[in-house]
Amino acid sequence: LRNDQLDQWDRDNFFHPSTHLAQHARGESPSRVIKTASGVFIEDRDGNKLLDAFAGLYCVNVGYGRQEIAEAIAEQARELAYYHSYVGHGTEASITLAKMILDRAPDHMSKVYFGLGGSDANETNVKLVWYYNNILGRPQKKKIISRWRGYHGSGLVTGSLTGLELFHKKFDLPIEQVIHTTAPYYYRREDLNQTEAEFVAQCAADLENLIAREGADTIGAFIGEPMLGTGGIVPPPAGYWEAIQDVLNKHDILLIADEVVTGFGRLGTMFGSEHYGIKPDIITIAKGLTSAYAPLSGSIVSDKVWSVLEQGTDENGPIGHGWTYSAHPIGAAAGVANLKLLDDLSLVSNAGTVGAYLNATMREALADHQNVGDVRGDGMICAVEFVRDKDSRVFFDATDKIGPQISAKLLEQDKIIARAMPQGDILGFAPPFCLTKSEADQVVAGTVRAVKAVLG
Ligand code: PLP
Repeated sequence: LRNDQLDQWDRDNFFHPSTHLAQHARGESPSRVIKTASGVFIEDRDGNKLLDAFAGLYCVNVGYGRQEIAEAIAEQARELAYYHSYVGHGTEASITLAKMILDRAPDHMSKVYFGLGGSDANETNVKLVWYYNNILGRPQKKKIISRWRGYHGSGLVTGSLTGLELFHKKFDLPIEQVIHTTAPYYYRREDLNQTEAEFVAQCAADLENLIAREGADTIGAFIGEPMLGTGGIVPPPAGYWEAIQDVLNKHDILLIADEVVTGFGRLGTMFGSEHYGIKPDIITIAKGLTSAYAPLSGSIVSDKVWSVLEQGTDENGPIGHGWTYSAHPIGAAAGVANLKLLDDLSLVSNAGTVGAYLNATMREALADHQNVGDVRGDGMICAVEFVRDKDSRVFFDATDKIGPQISAKLLEQDKIIARAMPQGDILGFAPPFCLTKSEADQVVAGTVRAVKAVLG
């Protein structure tokens, strides 16, 4: 097929996620047709080779073109492409993967339930919290607290949990069982004189006040990404998780750590929970579980949650929750091969060391620029936040779209993909863990050139 034919069919037949639909249909944003990929590079049908400094949607963590995973998928498809995982059925791949996940998860975690993507896993988590509290005889304890700027998916419940206006607007979200609290975004604090410790105390006090206002007996869980991702790539201020967990423990509120981005190594540790001292009751996993070679997600539940779920089924019969594709054998086979590769190539420690290098060189190269307000990150994830005025931290006008302008320039000049985050002028980087230091240098040098070209 010719590229112009594909472009026409694309506009005629396909409407894409997270896209300006009208512009795409008018042909103002033609799709690039990606053909192949290897390591940190993807290649389109015109032969353009692009350095993907966002690992797809921060998910191709082991890098592209890994034959070990492709072989595992092919072998599974040949041997058994599908069988369901209902009532006690399993496959070698799904049973092995569950063990591998638990072997890597924090010690107090007990069992894993499989889904397909991060959104459905969080949907499962909310239902598990509700089931848990019903079994415990406190059916009113159901509301879920999430943070402004959190991202947890785009279904009806998960889009509600997501604390970004774009995901609520014109969808009548959030639903009433979801309430939001302060984002741990120190750079964007209201009072610039506040110290980090004072800001953390305020986040905890805001949470306490919200709980007091709603009633602790109406709140089932708090959900948060160890580090805010799609909402701006914001590492938590020191002491944040300790302070939040103290409040949650006091009010008997479960904690869901959404590790869809941070799980399996992005911060240089196997889980973000480990990295920031979080003790979750449920952990959400997706993306890095298979490095996106096949769709698969999971909800890992703790001993505490499991003991109640188990008791619930003794009283009520089987749990009424399941997907056709739960624990899909092909996803599971990809997961097993992916986790082995992470170990065999020491990719988690590479994410830590090369990620630290990427963050340090990006900061050194850009922190003094008059329109760079903040350069931040941790492990193999990094963000640059642009401001019109460094002292007041005023954003550019929404219409200026500096983040998208710089990412477009970076692509045009240096063939490097970074992602303009959906809210504010923030450019995000989350490369595959196999990034080398010289590729990191390339990303930083290209970004500096793009920033100069757009902002001077
Ligand atoms: N949770 C987090 C932290 C995410 O970053 C995402 C996706 O980016 C999701 C959940 C939703 O995952 P999915 O897009 O696979 O449904």
